[in-house]
Amino acid sequence: MPKNDVELVKYLQKAIAEEAKGLPKMVFMEVCGTHTMAIYKNALQQLLPNNIKLISGPGCPVCVTPMNYIDELVAIGKTGAIITTFGDMLRVPGSRISLQQAAAQGVDVRIVYSPLEALEIAEVYADKAVVFAGIGFETTAPLVAVAIVKAKQKALKNFFVLTAHKTMPSALTTLLRDNKTINGLLCPGHVAVVTGSDYFHFVSKELGLAAVIAGFEAHDIMQSILMLVKQCKAGITKLENQYSRMVTAEGNTKAMSLMNEVFEPSDGLWRGLGNIKNGSLVIRAKFKAYDAKEKFTVFTGSVQEDENCLCGQILKGLARPADCKLFGDMCTPEHPIGACMVSSEGSCAAHYRYGR
Ligand code: SF4
Repeated sequence: MPKNDVELVKYLQKAIAEEAKGLPKMVFMEVCGTHTMAIYKNALQQLLPNNIKLISGPGCPVCVTPMNYIDELVAIGKTGAIITTFGDMLRVPGSRISLQQAAAQGVDVRIVYSPLEALEIAEVYADKAVVFAGIGFETTAPLVAVAIVKAKQKALKNFFVLTAHKTMPSALTTLLRDNKTINGLLCPGHVAVVTGSDYFHFVSKELGLAAVIAGFEAHDIMQSILMLVKQCKAGITKLENQYSRMVTAEGNTKAMSLMNEVFEPSDGLWRGLGNIKNGSLVIRAKFKAYDAKEKFTVFTGSVQEDENCLCGQILKGLARPADCKLFGDMCTPEHPIGACMVSSEGSCAAHYRYGR
């Protein structure tokens, strides 16, 4: 029996090679930035036989946030509001400037580690509007919902959220409904901790793909790949839960019901994927006093992505970072052109750091 993580990974590498022997090419997509990083960091693709290919999908929250969202934050900041944001949004390029550049021009931009910190800032600066940049998936939306409910309980009049939250099922369905090339999905463990594993049944039932909810250690991902290969070999598609030490069938029902109390599904733009029906979350009318879109009228103009940036193709799993002619030369983590290079969870940043 393997004694440690390295031995366990080697053991799983051998088991995958055995199972995959003689099978046609299999393509597995991961849709979580943390999985992307772990796969690159541990060079897991290099441990797999030639007939297994791993590709990244739209799992990095910063990467799928549209460029005009940054423009909106900058424009709101220029009205004198305090912009509060997670640190990884700071350098994301807007169509003209990033939040970091806006800060250099005098906009009050503050990094927070939780939306509740933004709420505290609003309490301290009662004479200023404080806007929290609400991005992310089902993992962060419940936390933002807590902040909005607390703001209402405290009767705060100066706390607002500019929401760009996304939910997984609609985007994955749009992306993979007519897919002919992907055989299986590594489902995001962090999201499933909140939503529960049952949330991802649609992947096997409706999209007809092998599906495994995966943890984040190298051996978790390798074991999940082994589970996907076994499904492909048996010609079946079902949802399995490799991350059962953290993920239950029903998830965190309290967090989900809070998220559903504050937010409702809406059509919305995903960077690289376009408009996705019911793929975004907006603040319900009952909490509209905390919606930055109600408070501020911001026209940001049309948005032009760099025509050579392949982020859109990369987020759909149709291209790899190395396919982009700007990669590593014109576009680096220090001087990012597209969102996939900005976030540490973006495919281009992961490839730059570990894949070259
Ligand atoms: S390397 Fe830069 S420009 Fe090219 S796809 Fe990635 S983020 Fe876009």
